[in-house]
Order: sequence, then C-alpha cells, then structure tokens
Amino acid sequence: MYARSAVRKKRENGIMEGKKDKDFIATLRDRGLQVTYQRLAIYQSLYFSKEHPSAEVIYQHVKKKFPMISLGTVYKTLEKFYDVGLIEKVSPVTEVARYDAQTGPHHHMVCLGCQAIMDAYGPVEEPGIPLSGQNGFHVLRKQVVLQGYCPACKTAFISKS
Ligand SMILES: [Zn+2]
Ligand SMILES: [Zn+2]
Repeated sequence: MYARSAVRKKRENGIMEGKKDKDFIATLRDRGLQVTYQRLAIYQSLYFSKEHPSAEVIYQHVKKKFPMISLGTVYKTLEKFYDVGLIEKVSPVTEVARYDAQTGPHHHMVCLGCQAIMDAYGPVEEPGIPLSGQNGFHVLRKQVVLQGYCPACKTAFISKS
C-alpha cells in the first residue's frame, strides 16, 4: 500500500521530485528576478506541466489560487522569464506562444489537429541539419519540430479519409 502511493507520488512529481518552494525561489533569484507569490505560482504551473501550455492555460490554472491575477500579468511574467533564459518557447508553429520550463536540449512533436505538443528526444546533431557558421549565422539552439497527428487526431483525421 505504501509502496504504491510512493510510486504514484513519484510519477506525479516526475523529474522535479523533492523540489521545494525554496528551490523554486532560488531558481528565480538566480536569474535576477524578484520573487513574488504570483511569479512563483506561474513558474510552478509551467514547471509541473508536460503540455507546453499557452499563457491562457497557465492563467486559468494560476487564477484558482490568485483570483485577482490578469491574463496580461501572466503573459508579461512568462515573457520576462523567457527574456532571462529561465524558460523556453516552442518554435512558433502554433497560433499562440507555447512555453516550456524544460530548457535542456529536446525536440517537439506538434499535432496539426489539436495543437498538442509533446517532447521528443534524440541526438541534437541530426544528420542533414546545417552546422553552425553557415552565412555567418551564430546558432544558439537546435530544435527539430516534427509536425503530424497525435494518436487521437490520427484516428479522426487520417483513418476516416
Ligand atoms: Zn491531436
Ligand atoms: Zn518541450
């Protein structure tokens, strides 16, 4: 009984198992950000999400705890986080910006049907991807975006036709 709930807890927490509020506060401070409860809630909401949420989705989540918060504040806070390198944005293949607290190298699979974004892992040096230095371009990030259909949308969009 104990073991099972421990396993479930582990799964819910995922990679950030054991991460406490003070760790999040330290992370924000490391980036030179003033820590407020709202900022903390916005960062944690993104951090614990696997869905690469939009500002709107994070707003709906954070609003439950901070009813006075506005969508504009959430958006501005996320952009601030992005400016200081605390978070990433998924390449602009969706209509609205989608954010990602995971800043390590990984790729994305974007569903053309429901705009779900999933992580994909593999070597960053994929064959066929131009190396740094072409046209004097300084490469900061390499990210492959795979567009297609998630399992649910594949059934709806492809199988029927
Ligand atoms: Zn889909
Ligand atoms: Zn991601």
